[in-house]
Amino acid sequence: MSQSGQQRMGGSPMFILSEDSQRTQGDDAQSSNISAGKAISEAVRTTLGPRGMDKMLVADGDVVITNDGATILDEMEIEHPAANMLVEVAQTQEEEVGDGTTTASVLAGELLSKAEELLDDDVHPTTIVEGYHEASSLAREAIDDLVLDGDLDAEDLITVAESSMTGKGTGDVAAGPLAETVVEAVDHVRTDDGSVDRDSITINAQVGSSSSATDLIEGVIVDEEPVHDNMPRSVEDASIAVIDGDLDLKESNIDAEYNVNNVDQLNAAIESEEAELRERAQHVVDLGADVLFASGDIEDRVASYLAKDGVLAIDDVSDLGAIINATGASRASSVEDLEADELGNAESISVRSYGDDDLTFIEGGTAAKAVTIFARGGTEHVVDELERSIRDALDVVTAAIERGGVVPGAGATEIVIADHVRDHAAGVEGRKQLAVEAFADAVDVLPRTLASNTGMDPIDALVDLRAAYENGTLSGVLSSGQSGDIADPLEAGVLDPAAVKREAVDSATEAATMIVRIDDVIAAN
Ligand code: ADP
Ligand code: MG
Repeated sequence: MSQSGQQRMGGSPMFILSEDSQRTQGDDAQSSNISAGKAISEAVRTTLGPRGMDKMLVADGDVVITNDGATILDEMEIEHPAANMLVEVAQTQEEEVGDGTTTASVLAGELLSKAEELLDDDVHPTTIVEGYHEASSLAREAIDDLVLDGDLDAEDLITVAESSMTGKGTGDVAAGPLAETVVEAVDHVRTDDGSVDRDSITINAQVGSSSSATDLIEGVIVDEEPVHDNMPRSVEDASIAVIDGDLDLKESNIDAEYNVNNVDQLNAAIESEEAELRERAQHVVDLGADVLFASGDIEDRVASYLAKDGVLAIDDVSDLGAIINATGASRASSVEDLEADELGNAESISVRSYGDDDLTFIEGGTAAKAVTIFARGGTEHVVDELERSIRDALDVVTAAIERGGVVPGAGATEIVIADHVRDHAAGVEGRKQLAVEAFADAVDVLPRTLASNTGMDPIDALVDLRAAYENGTLSGVLSSGQSGDIADPLEAGVLDPAAVKREAVDSATEAATMIVRIDDVIAAN
C-alpha cells in the first residue's frame, strides 16, 4: 500500500493526492476487494434455505433476529467499499423481486472466489469479465427452459409462497396457512389484465397475540384510536370525511386578537372561540359524515362536539392515501373546504383493542380492493420477522404471476444451469473457456450450501444431484426429518419464481465483474 499517489515526472516527485489519502493498487487492490466481497457472502450463507439458521444482529442496543439476507447485510453497517457492492446486490435483489437475496449474495461471493483462482493463474480480468457475462446469458437460457408450462393456479401460487417462507421466522404459524392468506390477498388485487396491484396490499403487524391469529382484512387498518371516549367504536355503512390538516382554531382569539382586560371580554372571547369550533364540527355533521379522519390534530372541544353528534373522529393519521384509496373519499385541506360529494364510503368501520393499542379497521371500502394482512406475534422480534416473511411471499407470488412463471427450487434449477453452462464451455475459445467453466462451478455453491445447511455432505450431495440429473430426473436438496434427501422439488412442491433466479444471476454477475475489474483503490480522507 503506498501513501498518497506519488508520480515521477522528469525526476522530481509530484504529488497529486493529498497527504492523508490512501491508495491500494494492482494485485493488492484486487485481493482486498475480493476478500471483502467473499466475507459478505460468507456472512449470509448459513441462512440459505429452509434449514438455514438465523442471525442476531446487535447495534446500538437494538436487536434484530432475522434469516433475511438483505436485512442482515443492511444491519451490518458495512464500510468496505467492495463489500458494500455486495450489499447492493442484496438490495437490488430485494427491490427488484423481493426474494433471493441470500442466493444472490452467496453466488456473487463464489464468483469472486473463482475469479481469484483465475487471477492467480494469470487469466486477465477482462477475460474473466467476458467469460462471466457469456456464462450468465447461458444461465438465463437454462432458466427460461425450466419455466413450468401452463397457467399458474392458486395451488401453484400457494406452493411458491410457501417455498419462500419455509424456514423463515413465522412465529407459531406454519408456512402453509400463511401462504394461503398471502395468495388470497394477491387474488383480491388482481386487475382485469391479470397483473397484481401490489401497492393495494398492506401488512399490518402487531405484537399481542400469537401469529396464528394472522388474518386477511378486506380493507385498511389505521394505527390510531378515536379522539374522544364517547365516540362510537363501530359504524356500519359509513360516510367518511378525510381532512389533510388540523381541526382547531384558525388563531386563538384570546391570545392573538383581544387584549383581554376584564372578565366580560374574556367570556366574549371564549364564546367566540367556541362558536367557531362548534361551527367546524357542525359542518361535518351537516354534510352527513359519520366518520372523520384527519392528518393533523383535532382540538378537544371539536372532538367533544363531534362525539355529541355521534361522529367517530380520528386524528394524527399518517397514511390518508390508503384511506382515500380504499373509500373513494377526496382529500380536503380544511373542514370549510369539505363538500358532501367528497365523502367516501365503507361497509364498516370498527375500533378494536389489541393489548394496549386500539386499531381502527376500515372494511369494505367502495372504491378499491385494498386488503391488509393483519399479522400478529408474541414479541416485537417475532412480528418483525413475520412481516419480512410475508413481504417476501407477497413479492414472490407477484413475481411469479407478472414476471415469467416459476422454476423448480431446492437447488434443482442451479444444477441445470451449471450443466448447461459447462456444456457450452467446451466451445468457447481460449482462456475465456476457463472463466465460463468457473462460472458453472460457482453456481454449484447454491445446491452445495443448501445441502450443508441441511446437514448433508455437500460434495456427496452434489455428486448425487448431478447423477440424478444425468439420468433424466430433476433433483434438489429437500429437507426431511433430521437430514436432507435428494428428490424431485416439483413433487415436493418447492417452486421459486423464475424472476428471482434471473435477477440473482444478473446482479451477482454484475457485482463480481465490477469488483474484478478494479485495480486501483484511491480513498481520499
Ligand atoms: P433467499 O434469500 O435466497 O431467498 P432462502 O433462505 O429463502 O434464501 O432460501 C431460498 C432457497 O431455498 C431456494 O433455492 C429455494 O428453492 C429453497 N427452498 C425453499 N423451500 C425449500 C424446501 N422445502 N426444501 C428445499 N429447498 C427449499
Ligand atoms: Mg427466500
